[in-house]
Amino acid sequence: MACALVVLALGFLTTSRIDLTAVAVFSGLLIWAENAAVLLPTSLTLSPSFMVVVASLAAFNGHGSVLGAGLVGACGGLALDKLRRQRFWNVGFNCAQYVVSGAAAGFVEMALRSLGWPTPTALIAAGVAFAAVNIVLVLPAVALETGSGAGAVWAEMYPVLPNYLAFGLLGALIGLLYTRFGALSVVVLAMPLVIARSFFAAFLRLRQAYRRLEVVYGFTRNLGGSLDVDAVVGTTLSEVQRLLEASRVDLAVAAAEGTLTCWSLVDGAPVHSNVASHRRPLLDSVLRSGEPLVVRDGAGEPALLEAAAAAGFRNVMAVPVGGEGRVVGTLLVADREDGTPFEAEDLQLLGTLANHVGVAFHNGQLVEQLRQESTHDALTGLANRSSFLASVDAAVQASEADRITAVMLMDIDRFTEVNDTLGHQSGDLLLREIGIRLAQQVDDDAVIARLGGDEFAVLVPNLVAEADVELAVTRVLMALDRPFPIGDLNLEAAGSIGVAVCPDHGTDAVTLLQRADVAMYSTKGRGAGWALYHPDQDVHTTRRLMLAADLRHATDNGEMAVYYQPKAALGDGRIVGVEALLRWCKPDIGFVPPDEFIPLAEHTGLIRSLTRWTLAAAIHQCGTWARQGLDLTMAVNLSARALGDELPEQVAELLRGAVVPPSSLVLEITEIRLMADPVRSIGILERLSAMGVTVSINDFGTGYSSLSYLKRLPVNEVKVDKSFVLQMMANRQDAAIVRSTVDLARNLGLRVVAEGVEDRETWEELASLGCDQAQGYFLTKPINAQAFERWLSGYAVDTLLRVS
Ligand code: C2E
Repeated sequence: MACALVVLALGFLTTSRIDLTAVAVFSGLLIWAENAAVLLPTSLTLSPSFMVVVASLAAFNGHGSVLGAGLVGACGGLALDKLRRQRFWNVGFNCAQYVVSGAAAGFVEMALRSLGWPTPTALIAAGVAFAAVNIVLVLPAVALETGSGAGAVWAEMYPVLPNYLAFGLLGALIGLLYTRFGALSVVVLAMPLVIARSFFAAFLRLRQAYRRLEVVYGFTRNLGGSLDVDAVVGTTLSEVQRLLEASRVDLAVAAAEGTLTCWSLVDGAPVHSNVASHRRPLLDSVLRSGEPLVVRDGAGEPALLEAAAAAGFRNVMAVPVGGEGRVVGTLLVADREDGTPFEAEDLQLLGTLANHVGVAFHNGQLVEQLRQESTHDALTGLANRSSFLASVDAAVQASEADRITAVMLMDIDRFTEVNDTLGHQSGDLLLREIGIRLAQQVDDDAVIARLGGDEFAVLVPNLVAEADVELAVTRVLMALDRPFPIGDLNLEAAGSIGVAVCPDHGTDAVTLLQRADVAMYSTKGRGAGWALYHPDQDVHTTRRLMLAADLRHATDNGEMAVYYQPKAALGDGRIVGVEALLRWCKPDIGFVPPDEFIPLAEHTGLIRSLTRWTLAAAIHQCGTWARQGLDLTMAVNLSARALGDELPEQVAELLRGAVVPPSSLVLEITEIRLMADPVRSIGILERLSAMGVTVSINDFGTGYSSLSYLKRLPVNEVKVDKSFVLQMMANRQDAAIVRSTVDLARNLGLRVVAEGVEDRETWEELASLGCDQAQGYFLTKPINAQAFERWLSGYAVDTLLRVS
């Protein structure tokens, strides 16, 4: 700039026809004209043409008045530019650049003419010097400013060089005309000049539109391949920043419940950020109205101006991002890097880009959703089977030689009862809660999956020792320690876990999962909580599969039988009833214990038909004995899963058919922990109770029965579980439990039956505690109907008590 001023000052002192000052001013005006041509609205495109004319006159006239007009024009241009764009340094540099290059041109022209070169040749050489100096100055300056290489700047620059040439030739032509033919010739030329300028402006606009199209095309091409939301966001932010030279770009998307998910560009990388409160009004305003907003150098809606100021922005543009026919987000840019405000075309460009972002974003979200759905369980959001298998395989491959990868398979015990008794909604809630608890129990590198139904799987990689496996399983089991609040209820859930480890039990996902499954089923029957896979368990799996298949036809094939075990009144030893216990004798393998096939029946849903069959056989037998004069109650086990709406009607029909009074039937409800549904389960039991059937709580004291059940269920009887009775004479704790259960039940007016009475001492102790009835091997093991009749005919309590 200083250099330019010196050259200008020198120029004023010269008097030659084509003097330095004139060339300098001509050049300054030329650059202003060029700037104005791009900046000014179409209606004002005359003024640059006018400035070219003035500049030409200044160059070829050399009179102070024209020079003055030129200088005023240049200052006006600078002032206008200052007001409009605030590119002081750019304008300063450009002026200096043209002054220096103009001076160089003048020097070359004068030097060559003093050497005797013809005027046209000297002028052409001056033009070449002018262009060369310009290029030499601009190339490094722009490269420095933009950080691009000189090659890239040249590629940007050379297409506009013809413009300069055109302006230069035009200016020279006007100057020559003026010197040869006077001012009139310039006026005559003005008309075609205006027309030519209009054509040129139209050409410029067309080129600008074409460039914009290219920009949009490039942008969509960059977005096009990205169906991943993060990639769309990344490309959007960086491209928008590049194209609009904005110092800040935000992309905000409306998320759930009025929240905004926002991404910003930090150091060139998209960063997921929380929307700071001061940016929120700007983003919200567009989201709500669906209209773009512009805050431009302190002009705009007061509320938005305030928000922009609070965010530290001077110039802001924000446009809606569309998707699925509605506004889903906002794309915001703020403060151009060079400080100039955004123009109408910028807003238009941003709007176009936002539309493309909306489409890409929507596609990306859809794909993300599809990907999520294909790899995740819809109910719990956990991994699904296929992605779990993939994770196991990946973990096994990545595992170091001395590390253990554990695969756990967990089945929620008696989950089907929740669905059956509380409804599927409660079941779903429980599963979701279990998923959340599991996630809280494991480390970050573990993977949790729901494989379907009530089956969860956990992958724990990088374990060092076998003890770590046990620790990991214990932590997973702890997820079920506390009850789950589902609606008004507190549901207890227990799980059986099977564990297989890599490399001991397999080195691929399918084998590991299958072996964990085998181990899991080995725990089921035993109620052991968890088990590590052992090859011996495979035998059990085969057996389980075989039993499950054969159970379906067991009743039709005559393989099922009902055995009866007597119950005696402890007061006088009289046999007052029997418990019907199901027996399965398979021709190929023999006796199958109920503890093995009842859970299987519950698992496969066969329990209802099996219960119906047992009820029919037991009630029929009860009627037969009643006709023989045996007044015995008949107790039938009823698992919670068999508690269907149709049950009371079925029972009533069976009792009617066998001519058995309802008071002779006792229904022993097992696993009542999951059937405290006041609406349904209790309703069914109340209907049965109202018929006169006795409702008994089986296995009382085993953990899930509680006082609240006694209060809510229409219960007439409790059965103290044999696990307490068997050891009550040796174990003080068991004795205390039995004693308090008996006390409790009696206080509530309930009948108490103790099962598992194996000896006289227990019998007498129970009698002294005030227990009502006893059942157990002390009387007899469960036997079939004929054997029972024989046993009963020989039964004499005195003998029994004396002999034992
Ligand atoms: P439960 O209802 O508690 O039946 C009593 C179990 O205790 C019977 O085993 C019986 O044989 C055994 N038991 C009776 N007295 C003694 C004793 O003094 N010492 C010992 N160690 N055991 C004694 P069982 O028949 O193997 O039945 C096991 C369980 O299978 C039953 O327990 C019941 O929960 C279930 N179950 C049996 N039949 C049916 C049925 O028809 N339907 C349903 N849902 N479950 C059944």
